Amino acid sequence: MSRPRLTKALVQVYTGNGKGKTTASLGLALRAVGHGYKVFMIQFMKGSKDYGELQAAEKYLPNLIIVQSGLETFVSKENPARADIDLAKRGLETAKKVIDEGHYDLVILDEINVALDFNLIDLEEVLEIIKNKPEHVELILTGRYVPRKIIDQADLVSDVTLIKHPYYQGVSARQGIEY
Ligand code: ATP
Ligand code: MG
Repeated sequence: MSRPRLTKALVQVYTGNGKGKTTASLGLALRAVGHGYKVFMIQFMKGSKDYGELQAAEKYLPNLIIVQSGLETFVSKENPARADIDLAKRGLETAKKVIDEGHYDLVILDEINVALDFNLIDLEEVLEIIKNKPEHVELILTGRYVPRKIIDQADLVSDVTLIKHPYYQGVSARQGIEY
């Protein structure tokens, strides 16, 4: 059975200090899946299976694949562990392979901007991947601190501004909301 394919796919970035970047990309994934598109999300620097989106995709959404390429622990920006760097680099290789193969219509590189900011992966490699992506593959890059060179290559950039967040009122991460 044939399925729809995008014709002129673009490059999107969701960045900024407010909440809503990863969840915006998941909203987009849901919308695309509803129309029969296939979505691949790779989560850099994340290694916890406790994210609701992993369980939802596995249980209910066969056309949304989510993989993680990080540890469960926080990464030190000043002194990242060897394993953090290796996993991020491996994640980038996976992303490149999935994008080049062109089987998925949307490829979401979740938190890739943070992996770049922490110097876990190489900006030039990411720019090459963006430049060489197949025409029908839409790319979404999320995370704070997007580099200027990625903004220059992107077609759409949304900056989520922090105005209020309950974290600053002492509300810690809530199941189903933050994870
Ligand atoms: P979400 O995954 O909820 O869409 P996000 O992708 O925009 O959030 P990240 O920068 O990836 O946010 O932060 C990861 C976690 O921190 C999420 O649980 C998110 O809800 C929470 N968070 C986001 N922004 C803030 C903030 N300004 N202060 C405290 N916690 C935040
Ligand atoms: Mg996020």
